[in-house]
Amino acid sequence: MFDSTDVFVIGGGPAGLAAAIAARQRGFRVIVADGMRPPIDKACGEGLMPDGLAALERLGIRVPLSEAYPFRGIRFVGLDSSAEAVFPREAAGLAVRRTSLHPIIAERAEQLGTDFLWGTSVSGICAEGVRVGDRTVRCRWIVGADGSNSLVRRWAGLDDGRKPRLRYAYRRHFRVAPWTDHMEIHWGARCQGYATAVGRDQVCVALASHDPAMRLEEGLRELPTLSARLRGAEAVTTERGALTGNRTFRRVFRGNVALIGDAAGTVDAITGEGLGLSFTQAVALARCFENGDLSAYQQEHRRLLLRPRGMARLMLTLDGRPWLQERTLQTFRKYPEIFRRLLALHLGELPPLELVRDGLTLGWGLLTA
Ligand SMILES: Cc1cc2nc3c(=O)[nH]c(=O)nc-3n(C[C@H](O)[C@H](O)[C@H](O)COP(=O)(O)OP(=O)(O)OC[C@H]3O[C@@H](n4cnc5c(N)ncnc54)[C@H](O)[C@@H]3O)c2cc1C
Repeated sequence: MFDSTDVFVIGGGPAGLAAAIAARQRGFRVIVADGMRPPIDKACGEGLMPDGLAALERLGIRVPLSEAYPFRGIRFVGLDSSAEAVFPREAAGLAVRRTSLHPIIAERAEQLGTDFLWGTSVSGICAEGVRVGDRTVRCRWIVGADGSNSLVRRWAGLDDGRKPRLRYAYRRHFRVAPWTDHMEIHWGARCQGYATAVGRDQVCVALASHDPAMRLEEGLRELPTLSARLRGAEAVTTERGALTGNRTFRRVFRGNVALIGDAAGTVDAITGEGLGLSFTQAVALARCFENGDLSAYQQEHRRLLLRPRGMARLMLTLDGRPWLQERTLQTFRKYPEIFRRLLALHLGELPPLELVRDGLTLGWGLLTA
């Protein structure tokens, strides 16, 4: 058992592992503790957008194609029509099962010399360090990467009591050949379904709604096109649930404790950006360890959340409004350039000001559709 380290990361999900890698890349000694053991699964749409893949590459990770399935863009599917846009510069996203992605990131952290305490839940933090069982591991920095219900956030006094309206999400995998090379968002009256092919014979399906009682089966009844695709397909995993939504905290650090990933705030699952965000946050955080000052991390964290949060809000204006969904899809079909540019904006490839021009065209399209 270790007595001391430079950085103690609480939570060995994607965000905690990314934080460990970025800190090791800068030469810090790092311990990661997680109550579970790899490969760790979680309810997720399992899509990595091109910007998320670029962030992963900065951590020295390329997901092998044997473990992933590529997608070229996003397709919106409504009750009566659909519209699609490809990623800029013919970039591709990758869909990867969480049980494949987790060991890939963990292996990179291990190669770089991270020490692991798998199957070890942290029970508290104190001025000297981190409480593990009846021992204290001394450390310079503590990273809370313990997910959306973070205890570290509470222990550090960073929970600020704000209660956003979150959505209920479920995900399951079905044995069926992929029918598309796009990640699909199916719009229903009360929910959305996300379909992402994760292999040659497997599709990940996630569902999000405001109704706590709406499980996958009931939600699929509101999404006829997706249901038809899945008809007769065998479910190969059990249904997993999670909460999703835009959630922010006033502060993401106090003293020597910093939060990362879902512990530091979430963006709605509809963005497909949660993983990529945590990879980018990891690099920003390690830079601040080097400078010995976490206040710059606070600013950078806020800046990084702006774009995905804004895009989630924009997309969710369609939530629960079937007439607006239909008009938007018709407008995207009539002016495909708008959808393509919105996708580029989503990936950070266009400045937000560009939205003004597209917003006007979109507004005109909605009025005249
Ligand atoms: C339905 C849904 C669909 C999504 N789809 C996508 C998508 O397509 N693309 C995308 O990029 N993002 C997506 N996301 C978001 C993404 O899943 C999350 O942003 C990501 O999992 C966050 O990783 P994390 O490491 O912060 O948290 P987690 O993955 O939750 O990891 C936290 C870890 O901390 C550990 N832990 C907790 N408490 C302790 C403790 N006391 N001691 C030790 N360990 C502890 C847990 O065991 C866990 O392993 C989706 C989310 C949802 C809900």
